[in-house]
Amino acid sequence: MKSSVVISKQGSLRLKRGQIWIFRSDIEQAQAEAGDIVAIRDRGNNTLGYGFYSASQLALRVLTRGAQVPDRAFFQARLSRAIAYRATLYGQTRDALRLVHGEADGLPGLLVDRYGDALTIQSLTAGFDKLESWVIDSLKSLVAPKTIVIRNDGMTREYENLPDLKALVHGEESIARYHEGALQFEIDLLSDQKTGSFLDQYDNHLLAPTYSHGQALDMFSYHGGFGLQMARRAAHVTCVDQSEQAVARITANAARNQITNATAVCANAFDYLKACDESEQRFDTIVIDPPSFAKRKSALDGALRGYKELNLRALKLLNPGGFLISCSCSAKLTPSLFESLLAEAASDAKRQVIVVQRRGAGFDHPALLGMPETEYLKCFVLYVRD
Ligand code: SAH
Repeated sequence: MKSSVVISKQGSLRLKRGQIWIFRSDIEQAQAEAGDIVAIRDRGNNTLGYGFYSASQLALRVLTRGAQVPDRAFFQARLSRAIAYRATLYGQTRDALRLVHGEADGLPGLLVDRYGDALTIQSLTAGFDKLESWVIDSLKSLVAPKTIVIRNDGMTREYENLPDLKALVHGEESIARYHEGALQFEIDLLSDQKTGSFLDQYDNHLLAPTYSHGQALDMFSYHGGFGLQMARRAAHVTCVDQSEQAVARITANAARNQITNATAVCANAFDYLKACDESEQRFDTIVIDPPSFAKRKSALDGALRGYKELNLRALKLLNPGGFLISCSCSAKLTPSLFESLLAEAASDAKRQVIVVQRRGAGFDHPALLGMPETEYLKCFVLYVRD
């Protein structure tokens, strides 16, 4: 192993405590290029483990602690372990789930999603960019998918100076079909958002009908993951998204599933909620699931204002006895900060609100204990009492 880095005492402590991110400030010497697997040494030249070296501030992602050099067999074992974990959780009950969730699966920077018999692979690091063709071959042998699409357009690639790339690398077409509960969805793995869909919300989508009644509103609905499930219990659901492509998919998905009490509107969510307020419309269930407004820490203040406005408006629009399902996927917004923001919104809206559930992403999107930064999705279910 030629490439190596020497890390500071503090970096060594972090590594020994099980942290898998070592920042540039803890790198004392580096003989490595972005994407290399490097030996991680302390000042005394002891090898502490191995990791991916990167050009960004997040300089090292630890792969192993101790003497084990990560080779192909090592990566194959980690991939198999990640897939086996999902099999333990879900058996054959789902045809759509995240098979590999980066750091929490010991494969930092690698995401793999399954949609029916198709897979999307997203690499967020130079390390996995280099291993890409090998990852494709391994997944072919482990999962035997009909289709594989590369979605290397994740936002954090920018920090690593990695170019965007989207490609169909196996199979005939990028259209995939999969189920969420009893509903069937169709997506285009190349042109739809994220890796095709938002699988992290799968379990929350299935829960939503429990809290749905009367007039329901699904804001930032994307393909109708929440809204179309809620249509089972609500009298009517309005799904709102500013993407025309997403709105077309909601309409197609509603028809595919013979849902006749859901409509899709292409609009800006802030304007739409304001207009509902002005026209004194009222709802019994509202979902707020915006994109991450705070991708960087510097954007947090503006993001807080955005989240607050959305939740305040939604709480005002709810009838007494209504439910708000409020989500935030911004990792920079901690669960406690989000909860305070919701409390402020409730107070400003002069509503008395009960916390029914505090939820996160599904179990196929695991977080590492002791690394709260690997957790990002918050999903609160609130009941507006009066
Ligand atoms: N609720 C969805 C995921 C939402 S992702 C699910 O559970 O599957 C965020 C969505 O918000 C995207 O579909 C995006 O097109 C939409 N969006 C982003 N900014 C918006 C805005 N200002 N108004 C309305 N929709 C917006």
